[in-house]
Amino acid sequence: MSKDKQFVTEITPQGEDFSRWYIDVIKKADLMDYSPVRGCIVFKPDGYEIWEHIKDELDRRFKETGHRNAYFPLFIPESFFQKEKEHVEGFNPELPWVTEAGGEKLEERLAIRPTSETMIGHMYSKWIQSYRDLPVMINQWANVVRWEKRTLPFLRTSEFLWQEGHTAHETEEEARHETMQMLDIYCDFVENYLAIPVIKGQKTPSEKFAGAVDTYSIEAMMKDGRAVQAGTSHYMGTNFSKAFEIEYLNRDNTLEFAHTTSWGVSTRLIGSLIMVHGDDRGLVLPPKVAPTQVIMVPIGPPKTWESVVARTDELYRELKSAGVRVRVDDNTDVRPGWKFNEYEMRGVPVRLEIGPRDMENGVCVLVSRITGEKKVIEQANLVEEVKAMLDQVHQEMYDRAKEFRQEHFYSVDTLDEMKESMEEKRGFTLAGWCGSEACEDTVKQETGATSRNIPFEPAEHKKTCLVCGEEANHTVLFARAY
Ligand SMILES: [Zn+2]
Repeated sequence: MSKDKQFVTEITPQGEDFSRWYIDVIKKADLMDYSPVRGCIVFKPDGYEIWEHIKDELDRRFKETGHRNAYFPLFIPESFFQKEKEHVEGFNPELPWVTEAGGEKLEERLAIRPTSETMIGHMYSKWIQSYRDLPVMINQWANVVRWEKRTLPFLRTSEFLWQEGHTAHETEEEARHETMQMLDIYCDFVENYLAIPVIKGQKTPSEKFAGAVDTYSIEAMMKDGRAVQAGTSHYMGTNFSKAFEIEYLNRDNTLEFAHTTSWGVSTRLIGSLIMVHGDDRGLVLPPKVAPTQVIMVPIGPPKTWESVVARTDELYRELKSAGVRVRVDDNTDVRPGWKFNEYEMRGVPVRLEIGPRDMENGVCVLVSRITGEKKVIEQANLVEEVKAMLDQVHQEMYDRAKEFRQEHFYSVDTLDEMKESMEEKRGFTLAGWCGSEACEDTVKQETGATSRNIPFEPAEHKKTCLVCGEEANHTVLFARAY
């Protein structure tokens, strides 16, 4: 690709072409670059720092609930994938293999991990002998590889970053409790940290994780009405324990298989928060993960410039020591108006402007990225006012995303209505489902929508299946998805 092609001058409006808008924004805001390897991206510092804030907060929550981090190898022997039938079928097409190393052909091919159930299952079988060894509650932060045919930066890439939690328990009840606890942590985090409202529910059998008994997900609506699965939590039952012989002596001195779980979120969250919150001017970053929460722009004619910059610097230090991620742009080569546009495009939640008159009056101006609202504040209350505005921006972002979802939420009774809903509107559609895979498949073939999950709290309960008209056993959330 030529240099000219990569340089984005204008952002395509969302209404004109949402996919192009997305690519324009992430390039122009300097979050990523394409790598020479197809389907892989480079996380540039602003893109990577969003991930670091996501990681720090989730890590804190995992540890608070009794988990510890460990690290398992990137390479997995081929034979491990043969042990759990569904798992191998699910992942085989996407596996890259190492067949040669050190100039010699390997005796056994090594897969580059797509997920670590098999490796961790193997290790747990060595570590777990007795009920006294349980529960095991381990999380891993790592990169994984799935050779994707169609890729989209952050949302679907051949290599991505994630965390995968893997736990083993004595009883089904305990493992199921863990599965739901982690789903709740994801839900709370995504809503209260990324300002993205989500729908919690259970995956249908055809959409569940390869090898799991039950898979649960949180689903978020992007601004083009499509869904992103923002996090998943799986109850594996004893499937992996049986495949990898994770057996322990129970309290009655009898051998039993452990009940396992796994759960994960990935750098898809970055793609999601861009697609949920961004607008025609560019990114809108949730304050809690924004690399820069406040950009300070001093303004003034040359004769007062130095004193304005000096005062800006004092305020900067005050904010910084209060834990606010703040930067100053005192570059004199560009005009303030250019800076305002630039930082709006980069999604900085709050802008602080200060000029000579503000200095005289002991005030400065805060501007919200999401509403454009300007607020004159006393410099004496700087920290308090800035923190209040960051909270306000978060709340406004959440409310807008939720309102958007409500405006694009439909309910249908027949396949024809579903077709119309998917073609003419954009959004999530509730429908009744009998439970048969054939009916679910028909929806996918005819409308391009897949079942996202069976919401725990659907807006209404459907009586009949949208395809066959038989009694509905579930009310399912359908959408086209990334
Ligand atoms: Zn049916």
